[in-house]
Formats: sequence, structure tokens, C-alpha cells
Amino acid sequence: MKVAVVTGPGSVELRDEPRPRPGPDDVVVEVAACGLCTMERRLFSGTKRIYPVAPGHEAAGRVVEAGEAAAALDGSPQIGDLVTMDLLTRCGTCRMCRRGRSALCKQPQGGALSDGTISMGAGLSEAVRVAAAQTFAVGEIPVEHATMGEPLACVVHSVRLSGFRSGDRVAVIGAGYMGRLHQAVCRAWGAASVGFVDPSEARRAEAIDAGADRAVAPDELGGPNGWTGGHDVVFVTAGVPGTVEAALDLCDDGGSVVLYGAFPAEVTASVPVDRIHHHELSVIGVYSQEPSDWQTAAGLLRSGVLAPDLDRLVTARYGLADVAVAMDLASSSPVYRVLVG
Ligand SMILES: [Zn+2]
Ligand SMILES: [Zn+2]
Repeated sequence: MKVAVVTGPGSVELRDEPRPRPGPDDVVVEVAACGLCTMERRLFSGTKRIYPVAPGHEAAGRVVEAGEAAAALDGSPQIGDLVTMDLLTRCGTCRMCRRGRSALCKQPQGGALSDGTISMGAGLSEAVRVAAAQTFAVGEIPVEHATMGEPLACVVHSVRLSGFRSGDRVAVIGAGYMGRLHQAVCRAWGAASVGFVDPSEARRAEAIDAGADRAVAPDELGGPNGWTGGHDVVFVTAGVPGTVEAALDLCDDGGSVVLYGAFPAEVTASVPVDRIHHHELSVIGVYSQEPSDWQTAAGLLRSGVLAPDLDRLVTARYGLADVAVAMDLASSSPVYRVLVG
């Protein structure tokens, strides 16, 4: 079978790999499609240089084989089920895993192909073997939506740690793919309003089309006529200098700022510490997802409640043979999700 391997900046090839066989606790999933996330874009563009590498961690497909132990368990995906899957491993042994914070696992994630090539999911392939525990059946939904299980689990994690409650007023800084998934989840869970801050006029217009209550440019924040305060939760999905300060300004008393998007390592923020104290504001970092977030994400997918939102976020889909075209598009222009498969 074929698997895509990034061999250097701008270079991706399809390699032959033996078809995987399941162990007793595994399933083999025939990959229907796999989304290209920031990691894939960084590897292809050369901002992250680990080569050769088999990326692809936003995959979905049907179970075609199940190990004996997995197949016998009620609740475990069965042959024929459409599943979204967690292709990155957690050790379960380190201190963070033992504390129930497996998003912060200290053990390097991923595995290797048969020739030793590093795998960071290897979901850009025809089939994968994965522990049954890391697969989540989603019912009969569009495959494109099922590939969004991983980013959706990250967003569920973010909303969960934010302390968000139904009726909250939400602001999202950054109207890209992750910002829009925050909008979808907060809406589904009863947000009173969702507003956006984004420099792109096109993205602001698309967020409004998708039901946002407001979308403004960064220079429209603050000032006598600007947008400020009045939010219970502010999600920062675009890690650029100044966004933490802007997010705190958008908070009402008791509000929380959630740092979701990655920041360049050198970025620091100067925050109004007395305001944080007197007004009980919180600044929370969130990263990745945990098994309970996957379970929730799969439930949201299965329910179909997010379907209209997710439809809007598929930019393009290419066959595995055209993985290079897909990688090129995803790393060279603003996209929501480009899918392969
Ligand atoms: Zn991802
Ligand atoms: Zn661990």
C-alpha cells in the first residue's frame, strides 16, 4: 500500500509500505481522507525540518480488520464502522499522563514505518493500524467531517478548560479554521454571542456568513467607539504579539483568556496584573486533547449538530496521488482545511 513521506522542504513522495495487520487490541482502518494541519504545512514548507517523515494525524476511515480482544468489547468500533482516530500516542506512564493530563505527555509521540522512517501519524496513506482505544465511531456522516475529529477534540479541550458555560458571551481572536471550530462548538453549547477579531476582510465576512454576531479588524478594538469588554471567554487562536493584551481588554469581570494558538517562542506580553486580581480574570494555556475530548468530539460529529459549520471549512479535497498539490495549496495560501484521500 502507499503512504506519503515528506523527504525535504517542498518534497513529498508516495512510498510502498506493507499493509498493516492488527494486534489483539488494534484495528486496521482503511483511510478515507486525512486533513492537512499546521504540522504538515510546517514540514512541507521547511519551517520544521524532520526528514524523512510520514505525517498526517487528522485521518478518518472504515475499520476493515479488528483484533480479537478489541472486536469482543462492546463499545469498541467494529468492522465497517466509520471512525475518527487519534494517531498520536501517549505513554500513559509519565507524570503528566498519570495526573490525567496526557495532552502534556513527556514521551515523544508517533512511531516508525517499516523502513524506520519517522511517523507523525502516517495518516496520508491507504490504511493504518491503530489501538482500538484510540478510534471513535462517528456513525454515517460525511468523511470530510469525520477527518475533523482531531482538531475538534482540541477545540473541545480548549472550551472545556476555559470554564465556558451556556449563555456566555464569547470572542475569538483569529477567524481561521481553529477560530471557526471554536465558534461552532460554543454555538452548539449555547453561547449567547460569538464575535471575531481578524485582519482579513474575507475571513471576517465568512465568519459573519457562518453566524458570527460581530467581526472586526484589530484596529477597530478599543478607543471610544471601538469594541471592548463584555466577554466571558476570549479564545486566542492567532498567536501574534499584542493578542493577549487585546484579549484581556475584551474580557468582562470574571472572564477568561484562553491561549489556544501557538506563539513564536520569543513573544511575551505585558498584562494588567491588578486588573487580573481585582476583576478575577484568568489566562489559561491549552494544548492538544485528551481521550475524553475525543469522546465528546466524536459525539458532536455523530449528532450532526456541527454539520453546516464543518461543510464551510472544507477548502479542497485531493486524491492521495495528488498529495503534493494538496500540500502546496495548504502551505502557500490561506485555507481552512485541505483534505487528502
Ligand atoms: Zn491537527
Ligand atoms: Zn506520558
